[in-house]
Amino acid sequence: MQRLRANAKIVATLGPASSDPEIVRALYEAGAAVFRVNFSHGGREDHRARIRAVRAIEREVRRPIGILADLQGPKIRIGDFASGPADLAEGAAFRFDPDPAPGDANRVCLPHPEVYRAVSPGQHLLIDDGRLRLEITGCSDRHIAATVLTGGPIGDRKGVNLPGAVLPVSAMTDKDRKDLSFALDRGVDWIALSFVQRPDDVAELRTLVGSRASVLAKIEKPAALDNLAQIVDLSDAIMVARGDLGVELPPEEVPSVQKRIVRTCRAAGKPVIVATQMLESMVASPTPTRAEASDVANAVYEGADAVMLSAETAVGRHPVGSVDVMSRIVRRTEADPAWRRVIDAGNILPDPTASDAITAAARQVADTVGAAAIVTYTMSGSTALRASRARPAAPILCLTGSDRTARKLVLAWGVSCFFSHDANSVEEMVDYAVEMAKTHGFAETGQPIVITAGMPFGTPGATNILRIAWVGG
Ligand code: PGA
Ligand code: MN
Repeated sequence: MQRLRANAKIVATLGPASSDPEIVRALYEAGAAVFRVNFSHGGREDHRARIRAVRAIEREVRRPIGILADLQGPKIRIGDFASGPADLAEGAAFRFDPDPAPGDANRVCLPHPEVYRAVSPGQHLLIDDGRLRLEITGCSDRHIAATVLTGGPIGDRKGVNLPGAVLPVSAMTDKDRKDLSFALDRGVDWIALSFVQRPDDVAELRTLVGSRASVLAKIEKPAALDNLAQIVDLSDAIMVARGDLGVELPPEEVPSVQKRIVRTCRAAGKPVIVATQMLESMVASPTPTRAEASDVANAVYEGADAVMLSAETAVGRHPVGSVDVMSRIVRRTEADPAWRRVIDAGNILPDPTASDAITAAARQVADTVGAAAIVTYTMSGSTALRASRARPAAPILCLTGSDRTARKLVLAWGVSCFFSHDANSVEEMVDYAVEMAKTHGFAETGQPIVITAGMPFGTPGATNILRIAWVGG
C-alpha cells in the first residue's frame, strides 16, 4: 500500500494497547512513522517484543521505520502509604523524609537524598502531575516540612515535581543506564532523555551512545529553557514534552514556550516533536475534542517535524483510530492554502556553507520548474536535514546506503527515505534518482525532479552538485 504522504510525521507510543504485531502494523498503515518505546512503563520482554514487531514490518514493507527508546530519567517519586491514599486537607502540615516506613496523613518517604539539599523554604512542591500543591516551610538534609496549598488524595509512588529547583542529579539513573544498553543492543534509532536540565546532561548521554543511535533531549524542565540553544545544539532532535513541562510551568506559559522551542529547532535544522495530550480524550472516546484537533493542526502550522501520541496509542481504547484521526488532521492542515504562507513565514536564511547553498538553490529551482521532488543523496543524513530545514514545497526523497541514516531521517519534516546503493558517476546518479522517484510514485513521465549530491560519493558533508532531470517515458 502506498501511504499518503504528509510532511509532518506521526510518532506513536507502543504500550499494552498496541503490542499485538497486527495493531503495530495497523498503526503504521494509518500513518505512524516512528514508534516510541517508553522505558517508564513495562518490562524488558514487552520492549523486546515491540521492537521486534516494528522491525518485522520494516522488512515486510521495505521502508525504514524509526524506533525511539524513551528513558525514564530522574523522575522523583514518593514512597508507599500504610492503608491506601491519604487525604491532605488545605492548610495541613505534611512532611517528607528518607524513612522507608509506609506513609500516613502526616508524612511519607521521599527516597531521593539529593532533593533535600536542592530545595528551600518558599518553593512549591507538586505531587501527582500537579494535582496537589504544597509550599515548603522548612528543610534540612533529612526532611522537608510543607503546608498544603491544594489538597486531595495522595497515593503510592506518585510523581513529585519541584518547579523552582535545579537538582544536582545526572539526567541518567542506574535504571536508565541499563535500559540504554538494552535499547542500543536492540538497534533502536533514537534515545530520548527525560528531564534534561543542562547541556551536560545531553553530552553525558552522547558519550555513552557514541555513534550507535541519535540523541533526543526532552524539554520538560523549566531549567532547560535557560540553556535551550545549547541543548538544541548538542542534540540531534528535541521533544516539547508538554506533560511534565506543563506541570512545572503554569498552563498559560506552555503555548509560547512550545512555539519558542519549535522556532529554535527549525532555525538549527534539528527535528522537533510536539508531544503529550494531543488527542488525550481519544484514550476513551472514538473522536477527539475540537480543541485537540486544533492543537494538532497548530503544531503543523508551526512547522513541527512531528506530532506524538502517548496514552492514546499506548493504553487507549482507540490506538489505530487515534493515528488515523491525527493523520487526517495533518493532511487536511497541510492542504490549507494558508498553511504554506505560515510555514514560509517561519523559514530561516541558509547558513554560509556549501551544503546550505546547494539546498537553498535546490528549493528555488524546484519552485521555478515545478519539480515533483527534490532527491538528495545523503550518507550521514546531514544534507537531507538541511533540505528539510528549508521546508520546500516539493517532497524530499532521500536516498542513502545507510540503514541508520534512513531510519533516523524518518522523523524529519517532509523527508521520505529509501535504502539505496551509491552511484559511481553523475550519470548513474541521475538515472537512479529518476528511477526511484518514478517507482515510488513521486514523479510521473515528463515531470522534472531536482537532484542534490556530493561528489565524490560517500564523503559526508560534501554536497556540491545540483541537477535538474526529467522523468523519461
Ligand atoms: P513522558 O514524557 O510521557 O515520558 O512523561 C512526555 C511529557 O512529559 O510530556
Ligand atoms: Mn515527561
